[in-house]
Amino acid sequence: MALPEPIEHLISLLKRFPGVGEKSARRMAFYVLQQGAGYGEELAQAVLSMNSRLTTCEKCGNLTELQPCPICSDPLRDRSLLCVTETIEDLVSIEHSGLYNGLYFVLGMSLSPLEDRESLPENVLHRLLRRFEEYPIREVIIATNPKIEGDMTFYALLEALRDVPVKKSRLAYGLPVGGSIEFADRVTLHAALESRQEVRE
Ligand SMILES: [Zn+2]
Repeated sequence: MALPEPIEHLISLLKRFPGVGEKSARRMAFYVLQQGAGYGEELAQAVLSMNSRLTTCEKCGNLTELQPCPICSDPLRDRSLLCVTETIEDLVSIEHSGLYNGLYFVLGMSLSPLEDRESLPENVLHRLLRRFEEYPIREVIIATNPKIEGDMTFYALLEALRDVPVKKSRLAYGLPVGGSIEFADRVTLHAALESRQEVRE
């Protein structure tokens, strides 16, 4: 049975969310409907104001209402560390960990041979290299994902920063904390072996 057009329209929009199928989209649409007009209006307004008020930081690419973003303008952040991520979501995850106090640079993309993205765009590289003129950076932490795209992006970044005299590092990856070797898949185990660290006695 076809539902009335307005709700079908909402379902078709919700279905485009990552990981949301027809059934979940329908459940969400009916939920919005049942909450009444106030909730629906607030939801629509939240999307509108997110789009109109948020922009990306011209220095680091983080999501922000101010230029530069609160991280870039925070005098307490360590300006000798620069962490490069593929996406804003990755920046947010690292930021939520509370373990990092340096600056960021969001590429906003990753290389992908399947999607015909085989090199980093000139404007992105230009913005990245400018960070080294502005800040006294000593180390770049390349926080790309442990996947083919992340690997390709990592090597492209190494190449692009070849002549920049700073320490370059990449996030180590391997066994999840609390996990067990027995249940780790081969790729994870391989990565864990590759990124093993020397034990200091
Ligand atoms: Zn910023």
